[in-house]
Amino acid sequence: MNKEEYKLYIDDVIRRVEFARVRVSAHHIVKIVAISKYSTAKEIEELYSIGQRAYGENKVQDLRAKSEELKELPIEWHFVGNLQKNKINNLLDIDPTLFHALDSLELAYELQKKLKARDMTLDCLLQINSAKEDSKHGFMPETAKESYEKIAKECPNINLKGVMSIGAHSNDIGVIKKSFETTYKIYSELEGATICSMGMSGDFELAIECGSNMVRLGSIMFNK
Ligand SMILES: *Cc1c(COP(=O)(O)O)cnc(C)c1O
Repeated sequence: MNKEEYKLYIDDVIRRVEFARVRVSAHHIVKIVAISKYSTAKEIEELYSIGQRAYGENKVQDLRAKSEELKELPIEWHFVGNLQKNKINNLLDIDPTLFHALDSLELAYELQKKLKARDMTLDCLLQINSAKEDSKHGFMPETAKESYEKIAKECPNINLKGVMSIGAHSNDIGVIKKSFETTYKIYSELEGATICSMGMSGDFELAIECGSNMVRLGSIMFNK
């Protein structure tokens, strides 16, 4: 694809997001975070040049390398992956716009300690394992609200902004939909939460219809 073709291709992805969000409400705004984990800095630069500003990575070392390589561009960097405790300092050095995957109380307390020592804050989303899959990280739906409130109260350097979830791993649309509805219901009951991050390349329209206002699009944005 040349640049003109790529631009038309991205317009089409944006149009799909638009159709889905308007079906919810004219006032329902959805943000696209382009997940660049399969892509090079050069490919990010191409997508940036046609208007995409927010990018996400799922490995701290990749986030560091790409944000360093592209530091001249005013890109908004998100971290969407599982964060190991021994990588917290590396992540905080980068100071991302949003960390999507706060997935345990233990991690929250460790993160709080490191944030406090640096006198900084970090915007975070609580990851919810809505379909209760062993392969996924995150809080179980039953404990998510309670844990969210606990972190909000006990971790003053963590700014909780809402929730994140990965749709159920299933071929049954009904099962995927149910996992999104579970996450949205929790989100809607949280005081002050403004971000519901759910939906990836294969299921973003469904996620938006279930209330997502932030989609994490990897393969589709980079045409892979
Ligand atoms: C890779 C990844 C995505 C994007 O996946 P695609 O299916 O390529 O859109 C979204 N969220 C997380 C947490 C990821 O790791």
